[in-house]
Amino acid sequence: MSENLNQPIIRMFHVFRQYGAQKALTDITLDIDSNTFLLVTGPSGAGKSTLLRMLYLAEPVSQGQIIIDGINTSRISRRRKPVFRRNFGIIFQNYKLILTKTVFDNVALSLEVMGERPDMIRKRVHGILRTVGLEHRQHAYPITLSGGEQQRIAVARAIVRNPKLVLADEPTGNLDSDSAEIILNLLKGIHRNGATVIIATHDRALIEKLGDRLIQLDRGMLVGDFKNDIRFSESVDRDSDSYN
Ligand code: ADP
Repeated sequence: MSENLNQPIIRMFHVFRQYGAQKALTDITLDIDSNTFLLVTGPSGAGKSTLLRMLYLAEPVSQGQIIIDGINTSRISRRRKPVFRRNFGIIFQNYKLILTKTVFDNVALSLEVMGERPDMIRKRVHGILRTVGLEHRQHAYPITLSGGEQQRIAVARAIVRNPKLVLADEPTGNLDSDSAEIILNLLKGIHRNGATVIIATHDRALIEKLGDRLIQLDRGMLVGDFKNDIRFSESVDRDSDSYN
């Protein structure tokens, strides 16, 4: 992705997403600046996952446009999508690690597909595993790790290519509070290093602690957009029932 700090990294114009008669997102218009730490909140079924899936090109818009780093995502051919997606780090609630590969190989894979040299891959993967505190588990298989450790590997995999944009869908949804804290600190570190981080969550603790900006979805509509100032915490207090 090109470096363009003055342009929003993501622009959405009147985006709709429907599944048959079911409306998942309705008329979303939104700019997201580079290097924002954005929380996407709202009750279950609000459209958070759908929004993220459209951003990483897992589903098309039904109507409207999404521009990422100056590129209209509807114009990206099916063949080019995996290449475009390499610009992102993606983290899922259920980790989605490859269970037949070791920790090292799970993280290395995304560098291998880019044709990086083996010595460079080794160095980079070791460095990232050190960052997430799991270098000593590099030969382990995911099934032998705790949920929190598996999510740390998923974070390592997401950031090993140094992406400008990291998308995380309920990354702490399956974790105890200590593991969640570790994941959040890693995501904060990624943001401090210059990436734009977008997290879909209904984790109340996370919402209270974090984020430059918070948007709220409800039944597919954008119903709130707050900067991390006094209004931010007021809105969370007022609407706290929605997050539980
Ligand atoms: P959230 O992540 O906020 O819980 P989702 O984005 O998963 O919400 O879902 C938004 C709405 O779209 C819900 O009503 C959901 O049932 C519907 N939806 C999501 N994915 C599909 C799908 N593949 N087919 C039909 N309806 C879907």
